[in-house]
Amino acid sequence: MAIIGIDLGTTNSLVSVYRNGRPELLSNELGQYMTPSCVGVLEDGSVVVGAVAKERLITHPGETAASFKTWMGTEKTFSLGGRTFLPHELSALVLRKLAQSAQAALGEQIDEAVISVPAYFNDNQRCATRLAAQLAGLPVKRLINEPSAAALFHSRATPQEERRLLVVDFGGGTLDVSVVDCFANMVEIVAIAGNNRLGGNDIDRAIADYFCQQTGLVWSELDAQQQRQLLSLAERGKTGLSQAGSRGCILACQLGGETLSAPLNRELLSGLCQPIFQQVKEVIVRGVRDSGIPISAIHDVVLVGGSSQLGVFVDYLEELFSKRPTLAEHPEHTVALGVGLCAGIKQRDAQLQDLVMTDVCPFSLGVATCNDLQDVNPHMSTLIPRSSILPARRTERFYTLSPYQRRIRLSIYQGENYYAADNLLLGELSVSVPPDEAGKQSVTVTFAYDINGILEVTAESSGGERRRTVILNPRLNWSEEEINRALERLNALPDQSLPREEDLLLLSRAERLFAELTDSRREEAADIILRLTQALQSGSSIRLAQERENLLRHLEELEAWAQRDIWEPPFRDEDDEEDEEEI
Ligand code: ADP
Ligand code: MG
Repeated sequence: MAIIGIDLGTTNSLVSVYRNGRPELLSNELGQYMTPSCVGVLEDGSVVVGAVAKERLITHPGETAASFKTWMGTEKTFSLGGRTFLPHELSALVLRKLAQSAQAALGEQIDEAVISVPAYFNDNQRCATRLAAQLAGLPVKRLINEPSAAALFHSRATPQEERRLLVVDFGGGTLDVSVVDCFANMVEIVAIAGNNRLGGNDIDRAIADYFCQQTGLVWSELDAQQQRQLLSLAERGKTGLSQAGSRGCILACQLGGETLSAPLNRELLSGLCQPIFQQVKEVIVRGVRDSGIPISAIHDVVLVGGSSQLGVFVDYLEELFSKRPTLAEHPEHTVALGVGLCAGIKQRDAQLQDLVMTDVCPFSLGVATCNDLQDVNPHMSTLIPRSSILPARRTERFYTLSPYQRRIRLSIYQGENYYAADNLLLGELSVSVPPDEAGKQSVTVTFAYDINGILEVTAESSGGERRRTVILNPRLNWSEEEINRALERLNALPDQSLPREEDLLLLSRAERLFAELTDSRREEAADIILRLTQALQSGSSIRLAQERENLLRHLEELEAWAQRDIWEPPFRDEDDEEDEEEI
């Protein structure tokens, strides 16, 4: 029985499995652990997912989508090559691809998957994730919070003493913070906090805005391709600055036949990031406050997620905590490895029998109530406060407000705001009560929240009527028929089959370089496209294999040149920060 773990990220997705006594990552068809969470539609209508789609983000922005996880649980549509997709449909295409790769890597059928979600995902977003798995034909019984998975892996990998950790997962589009208590084989999540719209993408955008400001460009006047090009430039500048020893660079790019450039160094980057880091700090403060643990009692701050590799981010946290945080060994892999551990627990692996993990609920859950008849704006009565340990169960009684009232209607909400209407409406339930004076009859409401973050509400009226409902996102609570229709639609989208993925990636990279380069180097990129296309058309696998190898070498050289254009001279001189030159 194969159970896989999936870290379905905003930027990158990974698959793991528990075997040989530990969680292991599985590589995709390109031999990589990370599959970019990007989906593209090719000219022939077939679908590409992963590295090829990521390349095409720049060359074909109208046919490619990324960061759609940010919109999970909403009805925002993405238009790709004339077809529209909902965020969970795009996620389904990513999951389908991951499952195919995993199946190929394992050589066996995938029976089940455990998927991680940001701790701060609300009910809508969790339901959308389940729906995506359903559309991908992947049975999913368990969702796990990303920071809990990271904490689980981290605590297993470090010595078994009692430790309180603050785990910060800073990815491409989300920030998740959790306070964790680890003792022997027990991992207890004490509190979680997060922001679903904060990540490395915001840093890229801040750098791109700065670049526009320096070069006189106006962001809103750029077309989609140019915006992508700038974001990609910004990302490269950012990641380059986190390499050891690098202090500065010149961001340079060709736009509309002109070469534009602006300097970037750690100090500038740190300044640009301050508003973003300020928001990170707010989330950390909320998480620590909720945990009730004084900051001095936290033994270690553990950083995971791609964006935690940003040097200025680590510096910022070091100053905040007056101590150096621990950067996980492979910060982009930690969550996936933790989900792999969960897959092992689900598989009931003997070595994991004694591992216990408890999680908490990310949002408060309650019902809308009024104080009296004059009260027109109902407020939220909380049954399960946020950070309650899961599973959680609470019961409360509510009384009638008007004389001879026949029914009590319960509106169920999730969120922290005083007025119910400012929170997320999860569902409604109504029970009948015997006619009586106001305040005489009542309904007893029980909330049961399970480890997957699924809420079951039971209401029993004083008249004896009993109603039970499992709260599912009403907008995403699709009928079997609707799911089948969506499945048919997605299955009708052919997967890209020819040429092979690695050739398609080579072609897409060459196309992207063509868009980025100029003059004779641009012609070289064009030549690569032409020669590979001819080799593909020749039908000779020997010729194709030879060409592939040569062209890949040439492409790598072009890529290095394109990067060098930006990076040289490297500013590794410790004493002279101002020493920036354009090439
Ligand atoms: P997600 O969980 O959202 O899928 P990841 O954990 O894979 O994301 O992180 C992706 C983010 O990490 C991107 O915004 C990327 O630019 C950023 N990133 C990757 N490597 C580095 C680096 N060396 N320095 C700074 N940021 C990085
Ligand atoms: Mg992540």
